[in-house]
Amino acid sequence: MRKNDKRVIDRFIELASIDGESFNERPVADYLIRKFQKLRIQLCEDDTAGKIGGNCGNLYGFAEGRGKYADSEPVLFCAHMDTVAPGNNKKIIIKDDGTITSDHTTVLGADDRVGIAGIIEAYTGVVEEELDHPPIEFLFTVAEEVYGLGSTALDYSKIRSGLAFAPDCSGEYGVYSSCEPTLISFEVRIKGKASHAGYEPEKGINAIAAAAAAISRIKQGWADDHTTLNIGTIEGGSVTNAVPETCFIKGEIRSGVHEDAHRTMESVKSIFSEEATRAGAQVFIDTKERITVYRKDPGAVPGSALERYKRALEKQGKTAVAKKSFGGSDINSLIKNGIDGLNIYGPMHNIHTTEEYTTVQEIVSFTELIKILMTQP
Ligand SMILES: [Zn+2]
Repeated sequence: MRKNDKRVIDRFIELASIDGESFNERPVADYLIRKFQKLRIQLCEDDTAGKIGGNCGNLYGFAEGRGKYADSEPVLFCAHMDTVAPGNNKKIIIKDDGTITSDHTTVLGADDRVGIAGIIEAYTGVVEEELDHPPIEFLFTVAEEVYGLGSTALDYSKIRSGLAFAPDCSGEYGVYSSCEPTLISFEVRIKGKASHAGYEPEKGINAIAAAAAAISRIKQGWADDHTTLNIGTIEGGSVTNAVPETCFIKGEIRSGVHEDAHRTMESVKSIFSEEATRAGAQVFIDTKERITVYRKDPGAVPGSALERYKRALEKQGKTAVAKKSFGGSDINSLIKNGIDGLNIYGPMHNIHTTEEYTTVQEIVSFTELIKILMTQP
């Protein structure tokens, strides 16, 4: 293995070993601040921690351009610091065939520490080899795994780049996320009336029954061919001998068509209202649009993030592969804020499971890809 290849693998192992589930990214941020100081870049932390109730904010850094691209448009590289649970006390194992896993009691955290490792080592290579490059912005976000809360809370007025790459898309080499949905989450509270279940049940208003009547009318799963609906939790009542006064329901809607997400939400609201009214109960519904849909034009306009990505892959003899995602990522926020962002390949597989893995070979090629993206006009 070449010296720099070993270095990126070591960097990844170091980063993956650090705890940092969503809202607890502090140790990762402290590590990054130290590492970037050595690269003469000061990472600044924003005030997102207070806004979202975490122990850390988003980190932002800027590197001046160099040589013939010094005055080119800046380019942003973004990766998220948090992992899903179980993500603490990770033990990283490298097998003889180059596969890297956890000990299967936690996730590996390649999602998205491999993205961070690739960005650091690609930039380190650019500096050491004194390569010409445009100005580069670095953004390391918190709570991406929680509806992209960190990137949503970011103050975009300080971002100078019109283009952004976020290596956070799992799959075969060269994938990118061609579309991501609008996601609305909702919470319903039905308030009926308590009464003794044995002595005078007729005086009560059963909130659970009203909720059940509504839920039985709502089509879950695929609401249409591009919209999903899920009621994920329900909770209600307090004891078996009282008519239940309250019932709480939580769910979410995702759609590849923004208007259809909202239309589906409206229909859910009216069904709950109708059934609550029929039962004589009250209903309170909170909805929140968490992320907003985008779709990438496969035509790839010259100079766009997608066109640059395709060109960088070509240099490696690879091709870009569009992948439809129904998840959502930091890129949704970046695009919503007018940046031509692309969620690009990151070497990570079986993400969000304890079977998550990556490979030495993929990390090495991926880091080279990031280096090409950092240095091509
Ligand atoms: Zn991710």
